Amino acid sequence: MTTHPLFDIAGRTALVTGSSRGIGHALARGLAEAGCTVVLNGRDPRALEEAAKAVADSGGAGAAVHTAAFDVTDGPAVAAGIAEVEERVGPLDILVNNAGMQNRAPLLEFTDTAWQQIVDTNLTSAFLVGREAARRMTTRGHGKIINICSLQSEVVRPGIAPYAATKGALKMLTKGMCADWGRYGIQVNGLGPGYIETELTRPLVEDEEFSAWVRGRTPAGRWGRTEDLVGALLYLASPASDFVSGQVLYVDGGMTSVL
Ligand code: NAP
Repeated sequence: MTTHPLFDIAGRTALVTGSSRGIGHALARGLAEAGCTVVLNGRDPRALEEAAKAVADSGGAGAAVHTAAFDVTDGPAVAAGIAEVEERVGPLDILVNNAGMQNRAPLLEFTDTAWQQIVDTNLTSAFLVGREAARRMTTRGHGKIINICSLQSEVVRPGIAPYAATKGALKMLTKGMCADWGRYGIQVNGLGPGYIETELTRPLVEDEEFSAWVRGRTPAGRWGRTEDLVGALLYLASPASDFVSGQVLYVDGGMTSVL
């Protein structure tokens, strides 16, 4: 099998935040399969070890998989975590800001604490981890940062206003990072998943009425699978996208294009 050299990222080192399960886990696996050294992150060290074993098994014997447990909302922990990863594993070529959460509740009932938590987890985390990684990437003159946005970076429905606010802001943070760091050889892009079956969306998948709405509303006629996102990530992580920056690539079965 031959692949175009523009898509060759073998030997690169990648950190994927929030990769103990769900989308981050699938993205980490895809990077390992492409020959990257991968660092998995999450808050639970035991879950991370299990996830790393699964990625190493699927990536073949040669897959180099590491873990780094830290909370992406905690500034000092992020600074220490990135420094430790670079020292132990090596310079980061690729950062995927994937860690995120959902909290579905009517806006009138949304508490201050819940608001702060979702902003910290979905938005501040990308600033903290992105800044820390970029401080090193800029001195080296290259790097790829991919922020996991959402179809809700563009559209919203009742009950998820805070989530949509964080993902809309993450889209603009992506463009801002592109503006500030482009001159240092760093490309920053967003990947915007549509409705993907994971733990985060389990309540929606199990709600037959909602699930049928998703299938009917999506031109592809189905929920997305985590594997559906891997091709777009590999493109945004590879030299094929070296003149692409500040964009959000929606992988949503066409949902954002139709009424
Ligand atoms: P998930 O299954 O709930 O996984 C979330 C991951 O993030 C877990 O590994 C979790 O591990 C980690 N995490 C959460 N808070 C963290 C923190 N403070 N520090 C470090 N790690 C943290 O979610 P998912 O569905 O895979 O979603 C992943 C990303 O895709 C999110 O940004 C989400 O908004 C986005 N997205 C998802 C969908 C979808 O349909 N599923 C659609 C669009 C966008 P620990 O809890 O162990 O820390």
